[in-house]
Amino acid sequence: MYIIDHIYINGQFVTPHGTEMFDLLNPSNGQLAGQVRLGDAEDARRAIAAAKAAFPAFSRTTKAQRGAMLQRLHDAVLARADEAAAALVEEYGGPHNTSVARSRYTANMFLDVKQVMDDHAYVKTINKSTVVLEPVGVVGIITPWNSSAWFIANKVATAIAAGCTVVVKPSELSARQNQILAECFHAADLPPGVLNIVNGRGDVVGAELSTHPDITKISFTGSTPVGKHIARLGVDTMKRVTLELGGKSANVILDDADFARAIPMAVAACYMNNGQACIAGSRLLVPSHRLDEVKRLAKMAAEAVVVGDPHDAAVTLGPIVTHQQYERVQHYIRTGIEEGAELVTGGLGKPAGLAAGYFVKPTVFAGVTPSMTIAKEEIFGPVLSIMRYETEEEAIAIANGTPYGLQAYVSSTDLARANRVAHQLVAGRVHINGIHDDLIAPFGGFKQSGIGREFGPYGLDAYLEPKAILGEHAQYQK
Ligand code: NAD
Repeated sequence: MYIIDHIYINGQFVTPHGTEMFDLLNPSNGQLAGQVRLGDAEDARRAIAAAKAAFPAFSRTTKAQRGAMLQRLHDAVLARADEAAAALVEEYGGPHNTSVARSRYTANMFLDVKQVMDDHAYVKTINKSTVVLEPVGVVGIITPWNSSAWFIANKVATAIAAGCTVVVKPSELSARQNQILAECFHAADLPPGVLNIVNGRGDVVGAELSTHPDITKISFTGSTPVGKHIARLGVDTMKRVTLELGGKSANVILDDADFARAIPMAVAACYMNNGQACIAGSRLLVPSHRLDEVKRLAKMAAEAVVVGDPHDAAVTLGPIVTHQQYERVQHYIRTGIEEGAELVTGGLGKPAGLAAGYFVKPTVFAGVTPSMTIAKEEIFGPVLSIMRYETEEEAIAIANGTPYGLQAYVSSTDLARANRVAHQLVAGRVHINGIHDDLIAPFGGFKQSGIGREFGPYGLDAYLEPKAILGEHAQYQK
């Protein structure tokens, strides 16, 4: 059993003022794996003070200096990528292969952001004036458990590229991954106070960050209710907020799509990260006249998913992160059945032979209508809802008939048609014919999926404040 009993403030690992010990259970077997000592509001204030003290000097560093820091961060994170992947498998049941890939691209994030910084104009001429982009200040970073190291890496890298200092409050459920990352950050040898990490509860450490007058901006990834709460907490001190929140993404299969390819991909888009992805394509919209074929293909794809011990390289679906989340997913499956959806495969209970961990049966519902709970709410588990439509217009209306707007997926063999539909979908990203990746293009949500964008130049701008210099002025460093 491991004990994590330090937090990272002002370039040092220190014992928290908070004394609460939080149990960390292995979701694959329900056993106690470790404990983390949680920081409290006092720890948050100490970290904020360190970040505030470091800000004046750090905000004046050059791109070259910050580029060297991003390179060192990349090297340090890459050096421990395998260990970080192992922690991902243990801590939240990420399947082995995806965990290894994710740990590597966590390291690469620092180089991607370095490139974006190098290409970004921090000084511009607009009309007769010079516009200087200045770092926004001390940033509070609050992250969820479902891809902890990667979210932290992206936000920290972008803040550093902007010249901001940070206090990170990671999810209390990812303490082991966070500890490895904190040690990597320490190894990268940044000036003390630039980067601080405080483990703690959301309503304690997170709330302190969200209200403290010395925090200028909050960058949050997590659920929509908590995002709204943070925005409310931050308004008195007029914090800038970037909110990456939940989703209920639609996957629109047009009638001319290659169904043999598109339907298995739709199942994969829903079950990614054990069904615990904000971008999961959890609503599959299909033409009525091809419903039977879709059900058959989706059932086959779901039943081909290998559920089990995430250490096993053949496993593609691991457990749900906690018992509480497992129960939540069961609640949604039960509600789907009670409200009259047709269970195509999966259902309540655990798969055979997997009673100890928090494993969910890969589940597919058909006959799901827009008014059903499973069509409206984010489930955060491997539960796919098939919904039928008669016309392209109806498909678009159903897809957009949600308070969320994070992602959408469209499949068609006619690219002009796919693009026409993509333009009408209200979502921050639309994937055409597959699940794609681009860590420079903007990422974020319309509507209640969030405020602002991450990644690339749009992400960087969110950590910068434009200052216009009018009249006679000297040359500024570009
Ligand atoms: P969560 O909202 O419960 O917690 C996220 C973080 O907020 C945690 O660190 C938590 O401790 C903290 N927090 C909780 N209450 C707080 C408060 N009162 N004040 C300040 N901080 C507080 O989310 P989760 O369960 O960890 O993650 C799952 C959710 O995150 C899902 O809804 C998912 O869609 C969303 N998510 C969104 C994205 C995205 O990029 N849009 C990515 C991943 C996850």
